[in-house]
Amino acid sequence: MTSRAPAVGTRPLTDLSAVEARRLLDARQISAVELTEAHLARIAALDGTVRCYIEVMVDVARAQARAADDWIRQGAAQPLTGIPVALKDVLCTVDAPTTAASRILRGYRSPYDATVVRKLREQRAVFLGKANTDEFAMGSSTENSSYFTTKNPWDLSRVPGGSSGGPAAAVAAGEATLGLGSDTGGSIRQPAGFCGTVGLKPTYGRVSRYGLIAFASSLDQIGPFARTVEDAAILLGAIAGHDPLDSTSAPLPVPDYRAALSAALTGTRIGVAQEYTVSGMEPGVEAAVAAALRRFEELGAELVPVSLPHTKYALPTYYITAPAEASANLARYDGVKYGLSVEAPTLREMYQRTRGEGFGPEVKRRIMLGTYALSSGYYDAYYVKAQQVRTLIKRDFDEAFERVDVIVAPTSPTVAFPIGARTDDPYQMYLADVFTIPANMAGIPGVAIPCGFSDGLPVSLQVLGRAFDEATVLRVAHAYEQAEVWWTMRPPLAATAGVGSSV
Ligand code: GLN
Repeated sequence: MTSRAPAVGTRPLTDLSAVEARRLLDARQISAVELTEAHLARIAALDGTVRCYIEVMVDVARAQARAADDWIRQGAAQPLTGIPVALKDVLCTVDAPTTAASRILRGYRSPYDATVVRKLREQRAVFLGKANTDEFAMGSSTENSSYFTTKNPWDLSRVPGGSSGGPAAAVAAGEATLGLGSDTGGSIRQPAGFCGTVGLKPTYGRVSRYGLIAFASSLDQIGPFARTVEDAAILLGAIAGHDPLDSTSAPLPVPDYRAALSAALTGTRIGVAQEYTVSGMEPGVEAAVAAALRRFEELGAELVPVSLPHTKYALPTYYITAPAEASANLARYDGVKYGLSVEAPTLREMYQRTRGEGFGPEVKRRIMLGTYALSSGYYDAYYVKAQQVRTLIKRDFDEAFERVDVIVAPTSPTVAFPIGARTDDPYQMYLADVFTIPANMAGIPGVAIPCGFSDGLPVSLQVLGRAFDEATVLRVAHAYEQAEVWWTMRPPLAATAGVGSSV
């Protein structure tokens, strides 16, 4: 079923971690152009099937790779110089369309780069393309994309998770070394888990949201996808930090996340919350997470029971807060300022037709839910109440983190589900994020990492931490990752021989 990644030297370039690629680039054993061409060839061979990308940035990637090689030759390489990255299509990019996978933004070109995009560009990273997402990042499977559904590289009949299914599947399938996604209620961690990759949601305010197409502004965060925790640490370091263009980004120094990684967990207190088991949880997921907890103990950590009693309210309050904020954020798509504009005899009809044709069903559902929750007469009963409960959810975490360093929990109650299995039942779709949403409501960081397999599909656990303590979250995740073999496993698809060159 699975194949274990052998040592560098016999592997395709598309299988390397960013750290491995960096070493080969700096030693001039490979060039950034070769690394990029290997990825473009693999995308050409596989992406008609897996469908990670909405737009492959062939010419941009080639030019960036040449520029990266110049820098490397001059000895000016930075950690991500020449490293191929997939960008979720909610990140504004000057040299490709940015559409949030919506009809209403088809062909839209941003006049500026998102801050995270600019930062990677300045390091001479290579942008392979804009990767698929649920429309406006609303969903858990990429089935809400107005373009197409991305496939799970482990089983093409299953979803890759969502909303950042495109970059997650790209990293899993060897169609990118790294990816950037956004996580409002789980959209980095859940697809990372379904695709067997690492996905990190940083603390709210850790990474600038400037140039991220807004879904729910008090919850959205941009973060990395990678094949290893170390790679995720490097990518986080590259994008984190205060940005004068985003007043919610925190004016705090960015630690050296990579230097904080270590193998031992002696003395680390890991919280285990009984609230993170729900009915409907698959036995294979439960078993893999239980085995992981034993492994944490073997590594010297102490398991401490903690209680997060308001966890059960996280999902319902999220589905007040997120649609309320979305309904306000999406009011800007009026046929005048951006993208699609459908002609009509009156201005009002032009608005109606543009929004009627431009937005898909899930986006309309969210706008209606949100508008209702914010309307006078219901505002106090729904929106204000949800904000109050949100405070209680955050307080639960604050109290738990007085006693523990991190909390470990499953990322999702199930493995990747079949395409089409939940599209007729929004509630079932929403339940896919029951374990990821609390971290967004509390604003805390969390990283999803592979922790085993159930019926041949990846299982994932998340390590949640204190606000702005990504360093501890990454340290704990890295120690576990390196003690296990899961991170070396590749989907059968990714093991396909003869695609891309090798070293
Ligand atoms: N699946 C959740 C939703 O549909 C979370 C999405 C996200 O994190 N962007 O809202």
